[in-house]
Amino acid sequence: MLEVLNGIIKNFRLLDVLDILIVAFIIYKILGFIRETRAMQLVRGILVFVTIFFLSDLLDLYLLNYLMKSLFTLGIFALVVLFQPELRRGLEQMGRKNLVRSQFKSIEKEQAIEFVNNIVRALDDMSRTRTGALIAIERNTMLNDIIETGTVIDSKATFRLIENIFYEGSPLHDGGLIIRGIRLNAASCVFPLTKNEIGVNLGTRHKAGVGLSEVSDALVIIVSEETGVITIAENGELKRFLDSSTLEKILLNIYLPEEPKKVLNKFSGVFNFKGDKGNEDE
Ligand code: ATP
Ligand code: MG
Repeated sequence: MLEVLNGIIKNFRLLDVLDILIVAFIIYKILGFIRETRAMQLVRGILVFVTIFFLSDLLDLYLLNYLMKSLFTLGIFALVVLFQPELRRGLEQMGRKNLVRSQFKSIEKEQAIEFVNNIVRALDDMSRTRTGALIAIERNTMLNDIIETGTVIDSKATFRLIENIFYEGSPLHDGGLIIRGIRLNAASCVFPLTKNEIGVNLGTRHKAGVGLSEVSDALVIIVSEETGVITIAENGELKRFLDSSTLEKILLNIYLPEEPKKVLNKFSGVFNFKGDKGNEDE
């Protein structure tokens, strides 16, 4: 032990000081970064673990060293479990583009156009009548955990049914509606609220919309009960004061992603409602 120390002192060069300083600076910067994230606790735990591991090796504490080695394997699995949400999100983002295409590709063109027309009409009506609404269109991130907080309805998306859901007196008007494909999947769902500041006049309905768009790739549409303003939340960001034709374009882009825009224009603005006779159920 003493010999090793002697050797180190004898061979010490000025460049080694520089070496140590650079490494210390890098570690300092990394620590600063970690401190700002939630990973701080975890890193502290790992540091304690590594210190005990090296001490037990240095002092030849066999049993402790053996225990730490065994825990190491367990620790790797624990890390995967702990960071499961982050890992999942990362993998999802990697595969997102292709999956989005295939999900909406299986919807027939006529059905997609009818669906979009119904949604846009419902939004337009609710905006005019100042009916508060919160609608999430599921894309690649499955919203099963959110759906579980509400009531599954799994019905055809007619504008009458959507308006009925958000009508003040309706039992399902509180909370958000989830759309999967072209069907209304569940109503009265509780969305996660964002922790970010989103604006002075925007309350919990808007916070819930932004919150869901932060943790998923869903497109969330919000109609304000106070002002009738239609807002979209996507990737944690808000687009406000949307009119019918902009909404129609955004929705058609999602539901008919491969359609040439010329064909879309032909249908744009044509309101042809099959559900007009009050045929909501299916
Ligand atoms: P508005 O402009 O319509 O008033 P706002 O952003 O000011 O909207 P509030 O007035 O607080 O929001 O709206 C309250 C309504 O928002 C609730 O009645 C409920 O329907 C909905 N809401 C609140 N929190 C959630 C949540 N976590 N998930 C889904 N919906 C929610
Ligand atoms: Mg309000």
